[in-house]
Amino acid sequence: MFDDVFTTKPALMIDPFGRSIDYLRVSVTDRCDFRCVYCMAENMAFLPKKDLLSLEELDRLCSAFVDKGVRKLRLTGGEPLVRKDVMTLFRSLSRHLSSGALEELTVTTNGSQLARYAADLAALGVKRINVSMDTLDAAKFRAITRWGDLADVLRGIDAALAAGIHVKINAVALKGVNEGEIEDLIAWAHGKGMDISFIEVMPLGDIEPSRLDQYLPLSVVRARLMDRWTLTESDHRTGGPARYVTVKETGGLVGFITPMTHNFCESCNRVRVTCTGTLYMCLGQEDAADLRAPLRASESNDPLFAAIDRAIARKPKGHDFIIDRRTRRPSVGRHMSMTGG
Ligand code: SAM
Repeated sequence: MFDDVFTTKPALMIDPFGRSIDYLRVSVTDRCDFRCVYCMAENMAFLPKKDLLSLEELDRLCSAFVDKGVRKLRLTGGEPLVRKDVMTLFRSLSRHLSSGALEELTVTTNGSQLARYAADLAALGVKRINVSMDTLDAAKFRAITRWGDLADVLRGIDAALAAGIHVKINAVALKGVNEGEIEDLIAWAHGKGMDISFIEVMPLGDIEPSRLDQYLPLSVVRARLMDRWTLTESDHRTGGPARYVTVKETGGLVGFITPMTHNFCESCNRVRVTCTGTLYMCLGQEDAADLRAPLRASESNDPLFAAIDRAIARKPKGHDFIIDRRTRRPSVGRHMSMTGG
């Protein structure tokens, strides 16, 4: 449905540290139907709809990144599946899978709308998805998400599996909240043929609870798991930051995403674009580049490519998140829901 705009063939994206950027995460909306306590404040102010890129503009922007060498594209948010007509965007982007330009089109979702969309996603070539889910306890799930219903998410996961999509569960490790449930989550996920990754909470955006109260280092989780199970390092990679172990007893994979205890920036291959067309070269830094103006300035993608090149040339070496007693401010003012996970 969308026409590619004719332009010259652009250069691939290589940053000043020689890292090749071939993975783009796009937040298609900052809105979400959950209010996870570590992600958002309860009374979040969202962007006026008029500031958002249209689906056609998002398609053009993503396609420009594909022209610049992106091989893996993840739609995220906010909650991507609550954006009106988002399947139109998936449908149009799937042409890059058919052409072979894109290796993978995927999505990170809270699962609330998945029962409705799983079959369509599979039909459009989405082979793997990440579903964020931190607990198997319905009351705890409601407390973490403030608004979410665990039964909807479980139905969504089953629909995705039934549609043949490989599901990876992402759970934020939360001190005193799901800390005692980590093994149960792993056993449940592996029992359904799913992989599971744990994420350290990051100091992004002002929220009411203290980050220090939430933060559970994954080095602690890993040590505890080793008391019960046999973990062996795996060279499994999905192009993201997770580092995996195989659990001998279950045969499944457990990933550790450790922005706090082990910085993985040296192998960063990613950039992120928000729903207003702002490009963030690092999740953990404030520097950004506006792509909406060059996108709208011309029918040609050349101004857009030039803006992307200028931004990639200043991609920072990495983030420097801090969670400690002396640091009261978040490392980055943006909530995760804005930049996209
Ligand atoms: N709504 C979708 C979802 O729930 O997966 C996509 C967006 S959500 C912001 C992406 C991921 O970021 C989720 O797995 C969520 O748990 C995680 N997340 C949000 N805030 C975080 C924080 N401060 N630290 C670590 N992970 C966070």
